[in-house]
Amino acid sequence: MKFAKKILCAALILAAVAGTVFAGGKTESAQGGQLDKIRNAGVLKVGVKSDVPNFGLLNTASNTYEGFEIELSGLIAKEILGDAAKVAFTPVTAATRGPLLDNGDIDLVIATFTITEERKLTYNFSTSYYTDAVGLLVKKAAGISGLDGLDGKTVGVAQSATSRQALEAAASAVGASVKFAEFATYPEIKAALDSGRVDAFSVDRSILRGYLDSETVLLDDAFSPQDYGVASKFDNKELASYIDGLIQKWLGDGTIKALTDKYKI
Ligand code: GLU
Repeated sequence: MKFAKKILCAALILAAVAGTVFAGGKTESAQGGQLDKIRNAGVLKVGVKSDVPNFGLLNTASNTYEGFEIELSGLIAKEILGDAAKVAFTPVTAATRGPLLDNGDIDLVIATFTITEERKLTYNFSTSYYTDAVGLLVKKAAGISGLDGLDGKTVGVAQSATSRQALEAAASAVGASVKFAEFATYPEIKAALDSGRVDAFSVDRSILRGYLDSETVLLDDAFSPQDYGVASKFDNKELASYIDGLIQKWLGDGTIKALTDKYKI
């Protein structure tokens, strides 16, 4: 009897251990690794810019995306899925890219997203793959030639962008006091510049180049370096460390240099 009890006990323990292991395995596969999830989906979902020439630009004639960040997305898809074409692009803005990551609509953001200490509390960022600087777009007719000419003027900036803080610091360093008007999108800021509601449009210089036309000029001022990183949802540490490994490899082996050379950026 005693012996039978022992056997029963041992069997129960074994079953419990097996159950735990099984449950563990089940939990693991139900949640899945983040890379496995992308492999199972067969597509990498990337949030990109649609209005930044040479970075992320939607070619409306062919309805395809073009640029450095688009090719970078393709290279990542090739690594994960074996095919650079297995990417689904979602156009994002400074205000929408974070929420789209948070709610799982996209796996990555590769969209002129500046790495900041504050943002690192909410998103994972890879090592920086490119460094830009903030600049100023003004109307040629305004006769503004630099930061110091902005004293008392109103500058249009995008919500959720680093521009306002960067410009505040740079302007005060040259003794200029600037007023700000915030907008949700860049086309709205450009329209405000055209109509005279703002005197200047400030954001990263790469982004401003997309809005340069015969009436406007991009000033030489370049301030507040902007290090761009590939961002992922904060919980997705496995994906983040995999992506960081790729970026570091491509920074080291010249892949990224070849692409920035190709786009002359
Ligand atoms: N790169 C800047 C930022 O991350 C400008 C905004 C943008 O990328 O649209 O805030």
